[in-house]
Amino acid sequence: MVKPPTVVFFDIDGTLIDTAGAGRAAMLRALSRLSPGASPGEAVDFAGRTDRAIAHDLLRTAGISPDPDTVEVFFQFYCEALPETLAERPEGRVLPHVPEVLESLRNRPDTVLALLTGNIRRGAYTKLAHFGLARYFPCGGFGDRFVDRRMVARDALEAVRRFLSCEPDPQRCFVIGDTVHDLRCARAIGAVPVAVLTGWAQANELAKEKPHAVLETLAELEQLLPPPKP
Ligand SMILES: [Mg+2]
Repeated sequence: MVKPPTVVFFDIDGTLIDTAGAGRAAMLRALSRLSPGASPGEAVDFAGRTDRAIAHDLLRTAGISPDPDTVEVFFQFYCEALPETLAERPEGRVLPHVPEVLESLRNRPDTVLALLTGNIRRGAYTKLAHFGLARYFPCGGFGDRFVDRRMVARDALEAVRRFLSCEPDPQRCFVIGDTVHDLRCARAIGAVPVAVLTGWAQANELAKEKPHAVLETLAELEQLLPPPKP
């Protein structure tokens, strides 16, 4: 591609899918496998954070040191539990209009879809594959290595740079997500932040971050993007 394409980065949970708590359940299952009888602490916040940050908090509240080897074992147990917890929740769902919007964006010649998620890579693709959406996302940034989600944003941009073999124009990069963390990720890389109200955050909470737009569902997304070049 000669001109930088439009890049649309998507968060996963609350933006593309609702796993009905399968991710949280798999984390708790991993914790109790790692440390039977561990008390996970109810205060750990899951929404919009990286899996690494969540893992650190869960391990600490259970009295376990979150050293790198222990976190790796925790992630391994999490990935083994996730297919089970997804299968146990038939109420899990793809959020409104997501399949047709992804299909439409994929067919635009100058648009690249990518992930920008706190999920670890394997967890992200396990969730997306469960709902038939994995094929839309050739690359992305993930929460394996980073506690700070803004670092994931930089990693996602770098992944797109490698995928395209060209420099993305941040002003043509859109970050779509359901939490303030997604919007701050967008700012961290100079991209356009777009909030969607299909997760748990309230509109007024998201509006404080001054997103470019607040969408009821992803059905309104495509009209925000630059028109495709013929
Ligand atoms: Mg989310």
